[in-house]
Formats: sequence, C-alpha cells, structure tokens
Amino acid sequence: MKKLVALIGLVLLIGATPGMAADKLRLVASFSILGDMVSRIAGDHAEVLTLVGPDGDAHTFEPSPADAKEVASAKVVFVNGLGLDKWIESLAHSAEYQGPVITVSSGIKTRTMMEDNETITDPHAWQDLRNGAIYAANIAAALIAADPPNAADYGKNRDAYVAELAALDDGVRQQFASVPAAKRRVITSHDAFGYFGAAYGIEFLAPEGLSTEAEASAGDLSKLMTQIKSEGIKALFIENITDPRMMTMIANETGVELGGALFSDALSPPDGPAPTYIAMFKNNVPKLLEGMAKN
Ligand SMILES: [Zn+2]
Repeated sequence: MKKLVALIGLVLLIGATPGMAADKLRLVASFSILGDMVSRIAGDHAEVLTLVGPDGDAHTFEPSPADAKEVASAKVVFVNGLGLDKWIESLAHSAEYQGPVITVSSGIKTRTMMEDNETITDPHAWQDLRNGAIYAANIAAALIAADPPNAADYGKNRDAYVAELAALDDGVRQQFASVPAAKRRVITSHDAFGYFGAAYGIEFLAPEGLSTEAEASAGDLSKLMTQIKSEGIKALFIENITDPRMMTMIANETGVELGGALFSDALSPPDGPAPTYIAMFKNNVPKLLEGMAKN
C-alpha cells in the first residue's frame, strides 16, 4: 500500500511539472476562427490544433492523413456544424477517434436561404458576435466536462471573453447605426455575411452562394452587375479565403473600386490584420463603413 501511495505521489509530481506538454489537453478545432475561440477559453491548460488554418477554406477542405493523426490524439474535437465542416465525420471515423465531437453552434438561431429551390442552412453563425458568445459557452461546457479539475478557470475565461464580445457587439452596433439605411448594401464573393447582416442591419449580396463549392453562374453574375450599376452600389469586397479574380472582374466591368479583403471564414496568419476572432471584426467593420460611405 505504501508503495502504491509513493507511486501515485510520483505520478502527481511528474504530472505537475510546469511546461510539460503532456500536462496539457490536446484539443482540435476544425477551422481557425474556432481555434482562436477554443484557445481563449482553454488558456494555458491546452494545446489547440487547427485543421483548416489561416486564410483556408473550410467548405472545400480535404483532410490529409496528418490531420487524422491529430484527431486521433485529441481529447476533444470542436466543429462549427451547420454543414461547414461535415468532413469531420469521415475524418473522425478514419482516425478511429472515440472522444467527443462538440458542435459549438448548438443552440443558436439558424438562418436558412433558398438556393436552387432548396432550403440551405447558413453555417456562418460566428459572424454575429452574440452567436460568438454562445460558441464560447459551448466550448467552456465541453472543457469543464473533459477536465473538471480546471473547471473554475474555464468558467472565468468564458466570462471574461463573453464580456469582451458583448462590449465589441455594442460598439459595432453603434457604428453601423449611424449609416443611413439606404447605404447599407455590400457585395462580397460568397454569402458569408448573412448573420452579420441580420445582426447589424446590412444587406449583403454575393455572386456565389452559402458555400464556395459551387461557382457563380454567368446569369447570376450579370444580374448582380446590372444591380450594382443601376443601384450605384460601391461597397465591393474580396474575401481572404476566395480567389479574388471574380470580384476583380466585377469591379472592372462595373467601374467600382474594390474595398480590400474582408475576413469571412478564416483568420489571417498571426502577423496579419485579423489573427483572432475579435481582431477579425475590428478589421472588417471599418472597411465596411468606408465602403458603405461611398454608396
Ligand atoms: Zn463560407
């Protein structure tokens, strides 16, 4: 018995050695925006690996055997859900991953759109900061369940983060409130800003649909260009995850100047303008305001 107690003591001692990677929970997030949120809630207790990295497109992502290895060694896997990262199912299966797969969008009020006579759920829920707070709560609940000894820290991190998101949401709302309703129209390459538009009262139009998987049709493109010209829409943006050629073509055809890149479905690399979820809003909002002022 004494020997066993000593052994347990030794294990605890090793386990408590600071800076040891083995202490840390291994967490996997499907895409970069979610990876940042998970890192904020997990703090020092985890190492977070992101499958679809900065500037990557989660819609069209094809996992590699290296991704399967990461998933196999994860304690918890976090996904957006709503059809964005449905490739996680086959990835988890091929990795023989037995742990929890947490859908962070669980509990949000979803938006749907009609595309080709089909009702499709819009996956871009993170573009409304109030949904970001729901994501944070779901992430914290999963971490508390996976690692009860650190529950208090996860709760604290969640509360601080949610307060930060709420303050940012207030600020964003106030900024857009000063824009006349008629000017609140923006063109982006794919329909990534439906939740953003609903939250902050902006109409977003896009030649491509909710996913980047299907290309815009010639008919849709010409309809949109006619609308841009006849309604004088000047707020035209490329996205960090999409090929800029289509928007450049629209800009050339309509004579409208592009307003730079919005971060839609992925963060920038760490040294870029949108390395975190919060920084993404702080980058996008002034660009949108500037674009709408020209409408
Ligand atoms: Zn998207």
